[in-house]
Amino acid sequence: MFWSKPKTISFEDAQRVLVTLLRDVRCNSWADRVSATSPNAFPSLLGGMGSLNDLIICQKNHHELAAEREPLANELMSCLLSVCYAASRDGTLTADAAVASCGTINLVLPGWRCLVCGYGLITSRSARSLISASDVRRALRDGIDQRSPSDSLLALWRGPENLNGIQALIDKAQKSGIQYTDEDRWMRPCPGCGSSDTCIYRWRQDHQRLIPTDDNLPLRNSCHGTTTNGKQPIH
Ligand SMILES: [Zn+2]
Repeated sequence: MFWSKPKTISFEDAQRVLVTLLRDVRCNSWADRVSATSPNAFPSLLGGMGSLNDLIICQKNHHELAAEREPLANELMSCLLSVCYAASRDGTLTADAAVASCGTINLVLPGWRCLVCGYGLITSRSARSLISASDVRRALRDGIDQRSPSDSLLALWRGPENLNGIQALIDKAQKSGIQYTDEDRWMRPCPGCGSSDTCIYRWRQDHQRLIPTDDNLPLRNSCHGTTTNGKQPIH
C-alpha cells in the first residue's frame, strides 16, 4: 500500500487558481503580487484601503471579462482569498474547513421588495450571484475530494456558464411569487403599486421554495394583519 495525496487544499493550490483568475481578467499587478507572496506574507495583502479584498473584478474597473461572468469572478476571488488566508494560518485545509472559511453570507438570493405591497423582484445578476456562490463551494468540495482542487476550480472558472442552474433558480423564484427581470437596476418605484418604499431584500432556498431571510426589513402591513391605512385586509 502507498500513501496517497491527502484530500486537502494547500495555500499553493488556492494561490495558483487566484493568480490564473487575476491574469485572465488582465489584473496583472495583483496577479504579480499574489504570485510572489509566501503564505506568511499573504495576510499583509489584505485589510486596509486599496487592499486585495477591496478589489472588485468588473468591466467598470477595466478588467477583461463578460459582464455576466462578474458574479462568478468575484465569488471565486472572495473564496480563494478566504482559503489562502485560512491555509496561510492553519496549513492545508480539509473540504469542510475550506468551505467553512468561505462563509455563508453570499448563499442568499439578493433582490428588491416593496414594503407596502410585497412585490418582490430579482435580476439575472442576483440569480448569477447565488448560483456562483453554490457552484464555487461545490467545485471546492468536489475538487478536494478528488485530490485536484485547483483543476476543479479552474474548470468552473473557464467552463461554460451554469445556465441550467440559473434558469432553475429563476423558475423557483417565480413559483415562490418573486418577479424576474433581465435589467440590472434599482426597483423604485414599485411596479406593483407605485410606492417608493422599496428596499434591498434577500431570500434563501428552502427545499423547492425561496423564503425571506431573517434579516430583512418587515413588510409594513405584516405585524397585525392590517394594511398600512389601518383597514383590515380583504381576504
Ligand atoms: Zn408595491
